[in-house]
Amino acid sequence: MRLLRSTDLALRVLMRLAVAGEGTPTTRQVAGDMDVPYTHAAKVVAELQHMGLVSARRGRGGGLALSEKGRTASVGAVVRAFEGDGDVVDCEGATPCPLASGCRLRGALRRAQEAFYASLDPVTVADVVASPTGPILLGISATPQGTS
Ligand code: SF4
Repeated sequence: MRLLRSTDLALRVLMRLAVAGEGTPTTRQVAGDMDVPYTHAAKVVAELQHMGLVSARRGRGGGLALSEKGRTASVGAVVRAFEGDGDVVDCEGATPCPLASGCRLRGALRRAQEAFYASLDPVTVADVVASPTGPILLGISATPQGTS
């Protein structure tokens, strides 16, 4: 299964903010740290704010912070939210598959997809920034910790 780019970016933003300490990096700084276009990062950050996982303070000294809900968020829940509930195969696309009305493979793929998500459910954002990932994230961050 291949994740959408936005799903992976959402998880990377959460991970980056999880190691920010008292710092509140801006969306532009996070985009720079993650080496992604600002517009992509801004779209993902807006969705994470909508989900209550990230808070934003405006003005001087403002920036992004992980909420408590974000710190304990399940990676599986984030992946489900960003991936949506579509099938891994497009059975009903522009040229619908002739087997779509009764396909056992489709059911098997749905169960495999759910098993994939379920395996990520017990994993939290805090879990995935444990060493060695957290220190690596701090190392690539252009934003000094403890500042905005
Ligand atoms: S074979 Fe089954 S899973 Fe594959 S596209 Fe057709 S309906 Fe979907």
